[in-house]
Amino acid sequence: MPIDCEFLGGGHEVGRLAILVKTGKAKVLFDYGMSATDPPKYPAPAPPIDMMFLTHSHLDHCGMIPWVTARHDIDVIATTTSKKVGSILMEDSIKVAASEGYPEMYGKTDVKQALGRFRDIEFGDTVPVQDMQVRTHSAGHIPGATMYELVGKRTTLVTGDLHTLDTRLVSGAKPVKCDNLIMESTYSGRNHPDRLKTEYEFLKKVHEVVDRGGKAIVPAFAVGRTQEMLLLLKDSKLDYWHDGMGKSVNKVYLEEPQHLRSAKRLRQAVSRGREVKNFQARQRAHDGEVIVTTSGMLDGGPVVSYIEAAKEDPKNAILMTGYQVEGSNGRKLLDTGTMEFHGVVEKVECEVLKFDFSAHAGHDDLVAFAKGCSPQKIVLCHGDHREALAEELRKEGFEVLLPMNGEKFVL
Ligand SMILES: [Zn+2]
Ligand SMILES: [Zn+2]
Repeated sequence: MPIDCEFLGGGHEVGRLAILVKTGKAKVLFDYGMSATDPPKYPAPAPPIDMMFLTHSHLDHCGMIPWVTARHDIDVIATTTSKKVGSILMEDSIKVAASEGYPEMYGKTDVKQALGRFRDIEFGDTVPVQDMQVRTHSAGHIPGATMYELVGKRTTLVTGDLHTLDTRLVSGAKPVKCDNLIMESTYSGRNHPDRLKTEYEFLKKVHEVVDRGGKAIVPAFAVGRTQEMLLLLKDSKLDYWHDGMGKSVNKVYLEEPQHLRSAKRLRQAVSRGREVKNFQARQRAHDGEVIVTTSGMLDGGPVVSYIEAAKEDPKNAILMTGYQVEGSNGRKLLDTGTMEFHGVVEKVECEVLKFDFSAHAGHDDLVAFAKGCSPQKIVLCHGDHREALAEELRKEGFEVLLPMNGEKFVL
C-alpha cells in the first residue's frame, strides 16, 4: 500500500517541521512547529487529520500545535516530558510574539485546549490509529524526544531531531530496521568535534577566565543545553549560577527521570549550582564565576542584562554553547564584536568564543544510523544543505529523496 507524504514545512530547511503522512485509511501529522526567526515562519495550513504525533518540545516541532488543535478535533501523541516542556515554550512564544509585535497565531486558551488533547506515551508503546500502528522509540536528541515507527507491510521510521551519541543528559538513539527512513539532516556535510575534547576545552577556558579575575557568561538554550552545561560544571569547583527559562525545564526533567541518562546527576548539578530566584539573587549572580542563562542566541532573556553589566571588562568572557542563526544577536556578537542591548547596538569588550555542544547527529553519525536502519528509501528533511549527505547515502546504495516543502511524494 503506498504511503503518501508531504512536508508542510521543514523539508528543505531547518525549522518549522510538519510532515503529513497518509497510509491506508489513516492521515496523520508528525510535528507542527514554527521557526522563531524575524519574522517568524509557519508551516502551510494543516488539512483535517486523524491524529498528530510530536517528536519533541523544541519550538520548531511543537510551536504551532495549538493552531491545529483549535481547528481539528484530534489527539496529540507525545511523551509527558515533551508535553510539559512544550507547554512552557508555547506559552512563551505568545509573549515573544506580543513583545516583538508579530501577530499572535493562538492565545493562552488555545494552548490550554491543546494540552487537554495530549495523550501520554512511553518509549516502546504502540499507538493504533485507524488501520495503522505506530511504535515509539527514543531519539536521543533531548529528554523525551521520540522517533515514530509506522508498522505495516512496509515500515517507515520518522526520526524527528536525532542524536546517536550519548551526552551527559540523554543516551543516544539506536537504529530501527525499516523500509523507509524519514531522517533529519541538520548536520549534512559537517561533523562535530570530539565531544570530550570540547568539554575539556570549555572547562579549561572557564578556569582561565576565572583565574584572570573575570567571569564566564554561558548563554544556553533553555531546553537541553542549560542542563547539559550544569552537568558539565557540576564536577568542577566553580561557583556557577543558573537563571532564565532553563530553571523551569530543570524542574520538568527532574519530574520525569525516566527520560534522563542519570536523574541523580542532574539533581546534583542543579542543586550544586545556585539558582537565581529573585532580583537580589540576580545582583549576587553578577559577582559569581559562571552564569548559565537564556537566551541561547542572546535575543532577549536575562543573558542580555548579564552581558550588559560585564561588557566593558575584557577579562570577562561570553562562551556560546550552540548554533547562532543568521540574524540573531549572538551571530552579530560573534561576527562583529557588537550586539543589541534593548534596541541599541554597543561594543562588547569581553572575549567571545563558541563551543559545539550540538544535540544533533553529525554527518558521519547520520550515515551510520541510516546503515543501521538499512532502509530501501531515505527521505532527508530538516536540513538546508541536504545534498552532501544524500550523495554519500546514494554511494552506499540507498535511494534518497529530497522533497521540497509542498511537494507530494510516495513511499
Ligand atoms: Zn530539536
Ligand atoms: Zn529541530
